[in-house]
Amino acid sequence: MPYDKRTRREFLASAALLAAPEPSILVHEHVLVDFNGADKTGPGRYDPDVVFGLVKPKLEAVARLGCKRFQDCTPNFLGRDPKLLSRLSQATGIEIWTNTGLYAARNHVFLPAYAHQEGAGQLARRWVEEARQGVDGVKPRFIKIGVNRGPLPDIDKKIVRAAALAGKETGLTIASHTGNGIAAVEQLEIALKEKLSAAKFVWVHADGEKDHSFHKRMAEAGAWVEFDHVGPKPDAIEWHIECLQFMDKNKLLGRTLISQDAGYYRPGEPNGGPFKDYTHIYTDFAPRLPAAMVRTLLWENPRAAFG
Ligand SMILES: [Zn+2]
Repeated sequence: MPYDKRTRREFLASAALLAAPEPSILVHEHVLVDFNGADKTGPGRYDPDVVFGLVKPKLEAVARLGCKRFQDCTPNFLGRDPKLLSRLSQATGIEIWTNTGLYAARNHVFLPAYAHQEGAGQLARRWVEEARQGVDGVKPRFIKIGVNRGPLPDIDKKIVRAAALAGKETGLTIASHTGNGIAAVEQLEIALKEKLSAAKFVWVHADGEKDHSFHKRMAEAGAWVEFDHVGPKPDAIEWHIECLQFMDKNKLLGRTLISQDAGYYRPGEPNGGPFKDYTHIYTDFAPRLPAAMVRTLLWENPRAAFG
């Protein structure tokens, strides 16, 4: 392909190839998400071979850009498929992590009935069991939960408490899809009350909160603040740069994570619906940052946050 016909993205991708890319970790992405509801999801909603065929080249593209680990944040009852993930991992050479936990966000439609009936201790037991025994032969490496906007409903608080209990027992880090800054603060209070270290809590979707004072407050308390909607759109790029500048100015980059929440195959939509590629953070965003900052955000911090 002649140079002048290449898009900027293709050019950067090939340039990164030549430069032996730095190793990196994508902490928040998805292979597949099924938004059908806890009682309506399950095997048969999609053909794993089709998803495999679609996603494999997308992962190979980031493997070429240096991605060593991909954390799949799709929770149980939303299409978590460890078997598919391990197939993709073997085919691409990228380590792919799955998770345990439950997602209470979006008004609880992704919670199974038992989440309403059981206490935090019982839910935690289930997750500890999954972490120890594995799911379809794969051991979850982090706890992924989701909560609604604060003030948090009681059941959301219970999910957070369960995560804190399971986190303490397993040592796994909690990544929580969080509706707003108030919910972030509430969750950290619950987690700390259960004697979980703040460093084991990741505020997912912190970029959805426009008030930087929450970012500062959470990071100063020792939690991780994750700006995870980095993408190709100029508005999103500028907002994420602003977030990073704010954290940098306050000497809080050591508590900051970035990712894209990209992907993903959506069962029930033609060809799995629109797919957001995983490469944008490398081709559109990282080149805007100092190299040392890229290494901190995409390699050192993910390892510090999740092990
Ligand atoms: Zn996500």
